Amino acid sequence: SDSHFPVPIAPSQFDYASHYPQIFGETVETSCQRKIEFADIGCGFGGLLISLATLFPETLMIGMELRDKVTEYVKERILALRTGNPGQYQNISVVRTNSMKYIPNYFEKGQLKKMFFLFPDPHFKEKNHRRRVISTYLLDEYAYALAVGGIIYTITDVEELGEWMKSCLESHPMFEALTSQELEDDPVVKLLTTATEEGQKVARNGGKTYQAIFRRIAQPAH
Ligand code: SAM
Repeated sequence: SDSHFPVPIAPSQFDYASHYPQIFGETVETSCQRKIEFADIGCGFGGLLISLATLFPETLMIGMELRDKVTEYVKERILALRTGNPGQYQNISVVRTNSMKYIPNYFEKGQLKKMFFLFPDPHFKEKNHRRRVISTYLLDEYAYALAVGGIIYTITDVEELGEWMKSCLESHPMFEALTSQELEDDPVVKLLTTATEEGQKVARNGGKTYQAIFRRIAQPAH
């Protein structure tokens, strides 16, 4: 349960030095300004983070994962990559947390450039929709954590959930859809179906996917 994992009381209390020791360990004077800019919510086994780590080597990223064993696995995986590739994978880490409760404990207003929700759990039953990681209420929190121009990426193989996430984003005043040209030009979009373990499973089975990719805008649109 929630009581078994520590949560920072405020984003300023997040222990950067333990998550990114090479970046924050020795060179305090140059690193103290840096903050996490990408968050992979419900990161599972960490495939996306690992792909992004080398694509954006200067960006700090965090995976947030509820399951203890999965989180420990991702930790080990990152440590092994750091050991095997000196100087690389120093910019990614993982925390065990409930992202539906604690996003504001980790990120300040406008801190994030990208948030990922890849193949989230569907929660089919109507009464469980409030447990979905995308909802109008949670989008308010994500809009708060995202910088203006920041991007939220969602993808699922469950059509109903895809429709749900898209309609929540479309009806939210602080988000607008990326154009098809922007989607084409964004190298990260290609990773949504290829980089995560769940995405690979869906691709192996020839499954269809539904994505909704939106930008945080400056002024309410409607
Ligand atoms: N994104 C990964 C992928 O594409 O391979 C994992 C997808 S998996 C179907 C959904 C993940 O979200 C699971 O690992 C689950 O433990 C995690 N999760 C569910 N609810 C969560 C929550 N409230 N906070 C953090 N993680 C959560």
